[in-house]
Amino acid sequence: MVVYSAQTYYSVPRKPETPAFIHRERCWPEVDKYSPCEAVCPLNQDVPNYIMAIAQGDIKKAIDIIRETNPLPSICGRVCHHPCEVECNRKEVDSPVAIQALKRFAADWGKDELPSPVPRTREAKVAVIGSGPAGLTAAHDLVNKGYGVDIMEAAQIPGGVLTSVIPDFLLPAEAVQADINRIKALGVRIHCNIRVGRDVSMDAIARQGFGAVLIAIGAQKSAGLNIPGSDLAGIATALPFLAEAKQRRIEAVQGKVVVIGGGAVAMDVARTALRLGADEVHVACLECRADMPAYDWEIEEAVKEGVNFHPSLAPQQFASRNGNRVSGIDFKRVTSTSVDSEGRMSWTLMEGAGSDYSMDADVVIVAIGQATDTTGLPAESLKLTGRGTVIINPATGETSMNGVFAAGDITTGRGTISESMAAGRRAAISIDQFLSGQPVTTVDETREIIKIKPEQVPSYLVRKEQWEVPRLSARQAITTTREVSLGYTFWQAVEEAQRCLNCRMCANCVFERGQLCFDTAERLL
Ligand SMILES: Cc1cc2nc3c(=O)[nH]c(=O)nc-3n(C[C@H](O)[C@H](O)[C@H](O)COP(=O)(O)OP(=O)(O)OC[C@H]3O[C@@H](n4cnc5c(N)ncnc54)[C@H](O)[C@@H]3O)c2cc1C
Ligand code: SF4
Ligand code: SF4
Repeated sequence: MVVYSAQTYYSVPRKPETPAFIHRERCWPEVDKYSPCEAVCPLNQDVPNYIMAIAQGDIKKAIDIIRETNPLPSICGRVCHHPCEVECNRKEVDSPVAIQALKRFAADWGKDELPSPVPRTREAKVAVIGSGPAGLTAAHDLVNKGYGVDIMEAAQIPGGVLTSVIPDFLLPAEAVQADINRIKALGVRIHCNIRVGRDVSMDAIARQGFGAVLIAIGAQKSAGLNIPGSDLAGIATALPFLAEAKQRRIEAVQGKVVVIGGGAVAMDVARTALRLGADEVHVACLECRADMPAYDWEIEEAVKEGVNFHPSLAPQQFASRNGNRVSGIDFKRVTSTSVDSEGRMSWTLMEGAGSDYSMDADVVIVAIGQATDTTGLPAESLKLTGRGTVIINPATGETSMNGVFAAGDITTGRGTISESMAAGRRAAISIDQFLSGQPVTTVDETREIIKIKPEQVPSYLVRKEQWEVPRLSARQAITTTREVSLGYTFWQAVEEAQRCLNCRMCANCVFERGQLCFDTAERLL
């Protein structure tokens, strides 16, 4: 191994046509390729550069880099599903870099003054319906392009799922507010308590001089279970339960709670029920443990807090001892499940002896998915799928109506925050093209990805596992609605950031040429 000395750096331009700011003439950066983290991030965040800025203690620089492609860093730093970490090359050395926790650190520690309003340079204005991640991102991008942007939001406060149902112990209101305040400061106007289709029609919006409309109304109806006994007292659906709990309208939940469903929402419901004082919380779902749609870390957190899991069970009917209130659930065991290309699930029931299973329950909360609500939108001209989602051209966000675009869960039925943001961004590009009289075409850039194989990892690289993010203990956590994750301290964040291999910049030297400059050696050895 050869170690060269070099000057401190972090700002590596991503565009291949821009001359790279490199250590010295001995550098072989690959600015025309993607590190896997940025390639799989739905927003293509410039992960290596913001992490290098943190590694050098420059938090202001880090948050500025993050904000170039992400208007919701406080939110994504807490609840993004972070596919970036699944693909991170550092996992071939020991464990992935804590990319998401570092984003949260930058957002919390890099807080600065609100930005000034963006000067209006375009005459046209855009109406955005819905202020969830998709609507907020599109509005942010459009106001930055100089358009007037008005968001119409049905709820009392903006934020969509972020403020209506995601529990405070995962995403505190202040974190959401911090991001939304910046978007408002740029000049986006948010009008709450306006349900489009009820309080104002799409026609009326067009008459108010909006040149384009973005539908970003999410999928906010909880699906119920259509089995005998579904109307018994004591049975609730997930989103109303989470919304009531978030607004502190449920004082306590007593007895044994059974949550039906195996996804992220079911985990949020189960952990909320624990915090509301349930004696026991059980999750029953169709899938086997390995196929549960909830992410592993969500299941692990729920297990730590005391949630019990019962996979491979299909509810058949609710039981009631007094004929009025639920007292249990009868299940059949499931032998296999499968999901089709449209996300519809099917399953096979076990037959014969041992196939029946019953569970007592004082409260049942059904968390088996969401549905869309397009009431009041122009049914004759806005084409929907059989599942009630708005049909779009996925490359552009165009709907069947001229000048009307759609993004987020209303087009997919189920998504994630960063994917919805990316869809909002794509729609904003298309809206800009549409309002500029250009053809609406979004070309997705494809780049080679720098992927490290385990056999390429040199033995001299120091093994250093990911810094665990400080958190409340499980015992403490279930007694409070406080955020469970406490976030990194300054030095923990710097240490963690220094684990990054800075793949786009340094992988060639570290993994191909076996030579390190002084900076990289200091960071990785
Ligand atoms: C309980 C729960 C937990 C989740 N946790 C995570 C997580 O941890 N990580 C993750 O990545 N994803 C998570 N998701 C998924 C993620 O939140 C969604 O994919 C994302 O919020 C979708 O964004 P959106 O902008 O399309 O819609 P939404 O966030 O649903 O926002 C839509 C907005 O439109 C408004 N609206 C609806 N109809 C109208 C109308 N007619 N007129 C005006 N306004 C209207 C609604 O009030 C709402 O504010 C979770 C989802 C749920 C339900
Ligand atoms: S937005 Fe999500 S996927 Fe993208 S870098 Fe941040 S945590 Fe990773
Ligand atoms: S090591 Fe750093 S640059 Fe490489 S994939 Fe992981 S976070 Fe990205």
